[in-house]
Amino acid sequence: MYSTKFLIQEAEKCSKCGVCVAVCPVFREMQTETYSSRGKVEVAKALASGELPYSHYSEDIFGKCLLCLTCKGACPAGVDQSKLVLGIRAELARRNGLPLSKKVAFKYLLKNRSLFEKALKAFSYLQKFSSSKGDSQLRHLPFFLSAFGKGRLIPDLSATPLRRQYPEIIPPSRGPAKLRVGLFSGCFIDFVDPAIGRSLIRVLGRHGAEVVFPKKQTCCGIPVFMSGDVENGLELLKINLEAFAPYDLDAVVVACATCGTALKESYKTLAVGESQDLQERVKAFSATYHDPCHLNRGQGIQSQPRNVLKNLSGVDFVEMRDPARCCGGGGSFSFYNYDLSKQIGRRKVEDIEGTGASTVATGCPGCMLQLKDQLGQKGSPVEVKHLIQLVDEAEAR
Ligand code: SF4
Ligand code: SF4
Repeated sequence: MYSTKFLIQEAEKCSKCGVCVAVCPVFREMQTETYSSRGKVEVAKALASGELPYSHYSEDIFGKCLLCLTCKGACPAGVDQSKLVLGIRAELARRNGLPLSKKVAFKYLLKNRSLFEKALKAFSYLQKFSSSKGDSQLRHLPFFLSAFGKGRLIPDLSATPLRRQYPEIIPPSRGPAKLRVGLFSGCFIDFVDPAIGRSLIRVLGRHGAEVVFPKKQTCCGIPVFMSGDVENGLELLKINLEAFAPYDLDAVVVACATCGTALKESYKTLAVGESQDLQERVKAFSATYHDPCHLNRGQGIQSQPRNVLKNLSGVDFVEMRDPARCCGGGGSFSFYNYDLSKQIGRRKVEDIEGTGASTVATGCPGCMLQLKDQLGQKGSPVEVKHLIQLVDEAEAR
């Protein structure tokens, strides 16, 4: 997870312009600056630098964030407020611990599918006796269970979870298999609404996909990770990696946006500071794109290479900050002005590494030379490839 130094640096990017305050849904309802996005950035910096104590008040401030990323999308300074919120929540959990119900659910239930299914059925039964108004002890349960006792209408559990409706390998319904995809069901589709999963499997099958549904997969871990429980979040990540590891897949398909974010984004965050092997496995499918100056400003080509990357099977495209910033190569410029070239290149390396991608693609061999040099000097594991190489590799898979 994130270091104190990282949190302070991220918070220091903030120019206090207030753009994010206007779009934060929590601020819109509470009208209290401390609970707004900008307020959280300030408080995060004060907590990380030791100017403020980690208290119940700070727990309340950082508990009141939807992690909706609206502030991140609006921020002109490129602050990633979600990293600050998650970093502070992790520190709060480390110092103060989590409520007992969350501890039990995260440590035992979510890692064991059959136990989780039994617990869900028991809670579903208890729901019938819980008050429809007011608060209840059940509010600390993860996921949709957190709404028990709050009067929310909760759908019934499915009599048969999706995982028990299909074998591990599901052949395509039409013709020979053209591709092989892994299915990550997520808890809601597995236990509450398997009809969504059945539709997904049917559509994939009609388009010639063989669907692999590893039964060892478990919860994506989002409720665990977002509560600040890094240790158990990491264990869920590892269980899911192991579940899919035996299969050679063209892609992993997810029908739940939150599970998709967990697999694509949160796992990379969780893996920060873990073994190189784990970090590599988590980001094995992600690529970012650097705009060569002579393709972008020289020929006006920006969207086409991105569209190619986004449509490549098995590649998860992630945009870097300021992708059009020159890499500092400039042809012979870097040979005559190597120190200055390195200085410019260092910023590009930071932007590339900030994406967590395993590969940076570009369309200019000159840029590749510079990127390989700059990333290599730093000992970065990020690979540099020409876009056409990624297309070639994807087609060969
Ligand atoms: S992520 Fe949190 S701080 Fe940012 S806009 Fe959403 S609720 Fe507000
Ligand atoms: S939009 Fe960004 S720079 Fe402006 S106050 Fe919010 S976090 Fe700070």
